[in-house]
Amino acid sequence: MERSAFPIVVSGPSGVGKTSICQGLLAGDPWTAYSISVTTRPMRPGEEDRKDYEFVAEATFDALVMMGELAEWAVVHGHRYGTRKKVIQETVARGRDIVMDVDVQGGMSIKELYPESVLIFVLPPSPAALEERLRGRGTDDEEVIQTRLRNSLDELKWAPRYDYVVVNDVLDNAVRDAKAIAVAERLRTSRVRID
Ligand code: ADP
Ligand code: 5GP
Repeated sequence: MERSAFPIVVSGPSGVGKTSICQGLLAGDPWTAYSISVTTRPMRPGEEDRKDYEFVAEATFDALVMMGELAEWAVVHGHRYGTRKKVIQETVARGRDIVMDVDVQGGMSIKELYPESVLIFVLPPSPAALEERLRGRGTDDEEVIQTRLRNSLDELKWAPRYDYVVVNDVLDNAVRDAKAIAVAERLRTSRVRID
């Protein structure tokens, strides 16, 4: 079946639950595929190269930027992350909506290059909930957590520039909302008439 696939960008501040919502969007939906980003950050235990990320050296990342291979890239927590144009183009050509987990500015860049993208901004239910999630992630010291929290709260100002906002209070509800957005956009882009 021919269908017009499009990028679904899930963005928002660090720790808000983007990864969790992307996993929910991908689960049991054959029309979606995950966008594997390129990164210079070290691989964490349990991660796999070319499944979670394409892990590359700084020089390789530089070369990708120079050759114009990346649709966008950003520095997050001191490491570089980017999305290959080829990954987006090939996934969409296969008829799969490409689910992308990118930082707040990366989302804006994707929309500029691919105006058909659907941008979802994930909001925390409260600053306290965001702090709890940032804390729940590992062994970072208090200063690092407080800096990340300040940066994350500052990034909330980007929300009005996104197409949709999903509040991640109860995760299942946030995933349900994100799925509803994907379904509504599919109907809109395939110009299905209800009447
Ligand atoms: P991000 O990808 O935006 O940095 P994650 O998806 O990694 O965020 O989530 C950050 C932490 O918060 C993880 O430990 C995750 O399990 C937890 N989390 C995500 N959504 C919720 C939620 N709705 N309620 C409670 N904890 C959550
Ligand atoms: P982590 O290292 O915890 O997996 O991801 C850190 C941050 O990098 C997350 O906020 C995620 O959204 C962002 N990120 C991951 N891949 C990309 C990408 O390709 N582009 C941009 N701009 N941000 C990314």
